[in-house]
Formats: sequence, C-alpha cells, structure tokens
Amino acid sequence: MNQEKNSILRETILIINHNPNSLKRLTHLLTLQGYKVKIAISGKEVIETIHLDLPDLILLEIKMPEMDGYQICECLKKNQLTSNIPVIFISALDGVMDKIKAFSVGGVDYISKPFELIEILARIENQLRLRSLQQQLQQQNSRLQLLLNATHAISEASDFESALEVILAEICQTMSWDFGEAWVPNLEGTMLKFTRGWYASNSKNGKLPPTLKFRQLHQVITFREQSGLLERLWNSQQAEWVEDISQEKDSICISSQMAKEFGIKGALGIPIIEENQVLTILVFADRDSRKPGKNSMELVNAVATQLGGFIQRKKAELALKKAHQDLKIMASLDSLTLVANRGKFDEYFQQQWEQLRLKKQHLSLILGDVDYFKNYNDYYGHPEGDSCLKKVAQAISKFASLPTDLVARYGGEEFAILLPNTTLEEALKKAELIRREVKNLKIPHPCSQVSSYITLSLGVGNVIPSLDLSPEIFLISTDKALYQAKKQGRDCIVAQVKKSIC
Ligand code: GH3
Ligand code: MG
Ligand code: MG
Repeated sequence: MNQEKNSILRETILIINHNPNSLKRLTHLLTLQGYKVKIAISGKEVIETIHLDLPDLILLEIKMPEMDGYQICECLKKNQLTSNIPVIFISALDGVMDKIKAFSVGGVDYISKPFELIEILARIENQLRLRSLQQQLQQQNSRLQLLLNATHAISEASDFESALEVILAEICQTMSWDFGEAWVPNLEGTMLKFTRGWYASNSKNGKLPPTLKFRQLHQVITFREQSGLLERLWNSQQAEWVEDISQEKDSICISSQMAKEFGIKGALGIPIIEENQVLTILVFADRDSRKPGKNSMELVNAVATQLGGFIQRKKAELALKKAHQDLKIMASLDSLTLVANRGKFDEYFQQQWEQLRLKKQHLSLILGDVDYFKNYNDYYGHPEGDSCLKKVAQAISKFASLPTDLVARYGGEEFAILLPNTTLEEALKKAELIRREVKNLKIPHPCSQVSSYITLSLGVGNVIPSLDLSPEIFLISTDKALYQAKKQGRDCIVAQVKKSIC
C-alpha cells in the first residue's frame, strides 16, 4: 500500500559514507533533529539493501572506494524504486566540474566540506519540502486521472456492471492494491442479491496467478448475525478498514480461503451511497496490512462520491433505453397473436426489397388466410375465434427458420410470411409445411366446407427485386395467388405464376 508516514516521526535519511567519523557526526546531528537515520558504507551495500526500507533522502559522499558517489547515484536513478529519492552530494571536492557532474548524474544539491551544521539541515529540509510538494502534486494528478478514467469508463459502458471492471482495475492500480471487488445489490422482493465481480492485480509481483481476472458471480446473500464486512458496510453506510480479513468469521468479501491462499490481510470496504441508498459496495484488499493513510482514504472517498452520481445517472439512462426498446418491440407486435403487426411488416418488406434489389437476391412471400373463418366465429363466438388465431400464428411461426424470416399478421385472419433469400421452390415447400402444420392442429371447424378442421389457403410470390418492378404490384400478385387458392377450393397453395399444388 502507499507508504504514508506518521507525521510525528520525521523522515528517514540514508547516509552513504565510508568514513566512520563523518558517519558518526552526521548521524548524531540528524538524530537530534528527530530524523530516522540509516547508514551504508559502500555502494554494494546500498544496492543490495536499499529496497528493504526506502529512505526519503540520501546524503551521498563522492569519494568512496570501489564505487564512487557518482556511480552510486547513477545506479539509484536507473532503478524505478529509488529514482525519485533526492540525493544530496557531500564532498571535499569543490571544483565547478565536480558540482556539474553531481547534478548531471541526478543529484539535487551539493554541499562542500567543511560545512556548517545549520547549512546541511537547511538544505535537507529544503529538499524534503520539495519532495513532499512533488508527492502531493503526483497524488493530485493520480487522483484526477483516476476520477477521469472512472468517469470515462462509466459513460462509455453499455451496462454499468462492465464499467466496474475498469473502475476496480483503475483504483487497484492507482492505490497499489492487490484485489478489488464490487458488490452490486439488487433488491428482489425481500431478497438481497448481489452481483459480485473482482479484479486481481498481478503487477506487483509474479505470485498472483495471471488467470485471476474480473468475472461476475451472482450471489444471493442472506445476512446472518455478524455476517461480516459486507453486512456492516450495508448497514453503516460508512467506509471500514479491516486489518486482517482472513480472521473474519464467515467472510464473504475476499473469502477467507482466498485470503489465506494469497496471503491477503488488509481490506478496505467502501459503500457507494446516493440519496441514502447503497448502490454498490467496493472492497479492496492487499497482502499488506498497513492501514491506508488519510490521503488514500480521501482519494478513494472522492472516487466513491463521484461514482454514486454517475451510477445513478447511468442506471436511469439504461432503464430509459430499455423502456424505449421494450416500447419499440411492443409497437411492432400484434397484441393478440404476438407475431409482428402490419406496420412492422410494411417497414420490413420495404427494407428487404431495397437490400435484395442491391444484392440481386430472391424475395419470397407467403400469404395465408384461414378458411371459412367467419363461420367459425359465428359458430364458436369471437373469443374462441381469437384463441384459434393465436394457435394458427404459433404454428406458422415455427417455419420462420432464418433470422431474416418474418411472420406477421397481415389483416384479420390473414398472415404474411416474408422469406428473404428464398427461392420460389423453397417457399412453396415451406408453404406446404405450414398448411399441414395448421391442419394437424386439428382445431375442430364443423362449419368449414373443406375440412372438419381449421385450414389455410396460401398464395406464394417470388421476385428478385429490381427498379423495373414495384413492391406494391408484387404484393397484389401474391394476394391474387391467395385468391386463386380460395377459388380452387381452399386448403391449398397457389404460386404467383399460376402453378398450383393442392
Ligand atoms: P374465406 O375462406 O373466403 O377466407 O372465408 P372467411 O369467412 O374466412 O372470410 P371472411 O373475410 O368472410 O371473414 C373473415 C372473418 O374473420 C370475419 C371476421 O369476423 C373474422 N376476424 C377478423 N379478425 C378477427 C379477430 O381478430 N378475431 C376474431 N375472432 N375474428 C376475426
Ligand atoms: Mg378467411
Ligand atoms: Mg380474409
């Protein structure tokens, strides 16, 4: 986790010097001022041990055996871990070239010996102040970047759950946390259901399996007594830090098994609240159990506050989009039979006509009309007639086998089946299958003069649309084929080219 120093303890200063007297003198001086002092007597020692406890500033002697101060400084600047630590050179060398070289290898200041103690303290404090300001600036930058990325992720996402993946990854990376989880509550009646997604960073070291990626699990949680961090966050609506999540009984967030497996210790839970409502709970965890400092908490809280508003807006936006889609679907359906209505048919027919004209492909149309349906209504009544039409529509729908096929209610007891990319032969076969299927429903029709069951007469049209042809005339000629089928005795099929199959 981000290292944030307790303000009571002063910064850590590493003195690199092989001279015991100088080391003693400087150590005494800095300790008296409250600094934590570490020492190293060679470049080799520095390189081998510096990563164990990174200092805030380095006082580096130029004249050293084996590696000199310049070489040590160059090494430190090349290492990502230590490149930002300010290095102040101390040396008896006082030539301009020595000083230039000290700055060119990355030093921030140069103190010539002999020096006044007060001068060395002033220069150290100056550099530490600069470093602290730089860190604050960096933090502000990463905070702005994080807010920007999170905002962008939410506004770009088609659904807000998928945006969480990006947000978790962004927060984990900015804060150097190993795991991030998001719990999205979904109240269904009295049941509290959470969608859980989690992100695992494997950037810090190779120990975490690279396969651990964000995924979504739908989990139903029933809070029991003392059922852990998730419930506490849900109830308190306050961020909470847990020093060792593996010790939590019944831990649902970052399961105790996972915590043990990867050595996860510290966990931070942050509820995202909008209008007193918990919209999402974020849980971050790390193998380090160091409590996040004030700055980290402020940053994460700022993101959480920002997210609250965005999530609410995104949810409203998505709900509106869904309502529009539902409305559009509803507007294109026939409310009785639930196949497409005439409006949808007309729109789709025009669209397919244009597409197939450009592709020079076949368009087939089957028009089917229930035989002697007036008699059926008269005999059974209108409600029975309605239920019969529903069954017929369902039977016909079975033959809309291609995604581009469309079954529509063309008028009262008349149905249209539009078959793009279908030849006349294929359409005639389909019409025959439909005719048989409807007859096989065996819906009794005592008043039909052609069968004791409900039957259909069908007209089949086929065309390769072109600029010379008109879609209206194609419809009229298919309707004529249907009329012919009625004339030929019903319960039969007539093709537009006057071929008939009865
Ligand atoms: P044909 O074999 O020549 O088609 O005879 P038909 O009796 O089916 O034809 P006609 O056009 O004379 O009658 C169609 C009937 O369909 C009349 C109308 O009451 C009925 N009808 C139309 N729409 C609906 C509906 O939504 N529900 C019900 N129950 N009946 C409908
Ligand atoms: Mg009819
Ligand atoms: Mg009719």
